[in-house]
Amino acid sequence: MYRADYHVHTHFSHDSNEPIELQIEEAIRQGFDEIAITDHFEKGPINGIIQPNMLMSGYLEAVKEMQERYKGRIKIKQGIEIGYEERWREEIFKFIEDCDLDFIICSTHKCENVDLFLNNFFDSRTQIQAYTKYFENVLNAVKTFPHFSVYGHIDYINRYGSFAHKILTVSDYKDLIYQILKELIESGRGIEINTSGIRYGVGHFNPQIEVLKMYLDMGGQIITIGSDSHYTQHIGYLWDEAALLIKNIGFNYYTTFEKGKPIFHHL
Ligand SMILES: [Zn+2]
Ligand SMILES: [Zn+2]
Repeated sequence: MYRADYHVHTHFSHDSNEPIELQIEEAIRQGFDEIAITDHFEKGPINGIIQPNMLMSGYLEAVKEMQERYKGRIKIKQGIEIGYEERWREEIFKFIEDCDLDFIICSTHKCENVDLFLNNFFDSRTQIQAYTKYFENVLNAVKTFPHFSVYGHIDYINRYGSFAHKILTVSDYKDLIYQILKELIESGRGIEINTSGIRYGVGHFNPQIEVLKMYLDMGGQIITIGSDSHYTQHIGYLWDEAALLIKNIGFNYYTTFEKGKPIFHHL
C-alpha cells in the first residue's frame, strides 16, 4: 500500500528543533513513499511572544533542495500549516500567493486572540461556550479562507481545557460540525485524520470517529493521514492504524496533494 505521512514539522516551525533531513530520513527508514512537510505559518504572538521568523526564511528553498536530494527515495511535498485567524487574512493570502505550495492545512490554534494551549481561553467559559466558540471560528475560517486543502485536527479543542470530561460530545455541536463539513465537501476541500491525539492523551485520533463517519455519510472523500510529528520519533506515528481505522469506517481512499490537486490512493 502507498503510504504518505501528510503532517510533518521540522526546525522551520517555532515549536520543533528537528532538522528537516532527519525527519525525511526517518520517513525513508520506515518505508514511506511520500511525506508533506507542513511547517507552521502563524501570525501574531504565541504565548505572548512574537516568535522569531515565522515563517521562516529559507523554508521553501530548503524543501526544494530536499526534493532534489532525496529524489527517487521518497516523494516530498511542499506543504504548510496555516494557523488561521481572520484578522491576518490579507497577510496569509499574500503569503500563499507568493509560494508554490502542494498542500495547505488550515488549523485553528487560537480563539479570540488566545492560544488554546494556554488554558485562559477556558477560564471565563463553560465547556459548551468554549467548544461552540471554537467551532464558530472553524466555520468562519472555512468560509473566509478558500485556498486550503484540508482542515487540520478539526476537533483540536478537546485537547485543552481543564474539564472533567474533555472529549467532544458530537451531538452537542452537531449543527456546527455539519455546516463545517458541508462547506468543505461542497468546495472540494477535505479533512485530515491526525494521529497526535493519542500522544497528547486525548484518547482518540482527531477527529474522533463520529465526525469521520458524519463526513463520510455526507459524501466527504478527501482525507489525508498525518502524524503531526515535531520529533523524529513521531514520524509515521500510528499511521497504519489510522489508515485501517478509516478503511473500516468505510473510506475506500485517502488523499495526497500536488499543487493543490487531490490524488486518491486505495486504502
Ligand atoms: Zn496544528
Ligand atoms: Zn501541526
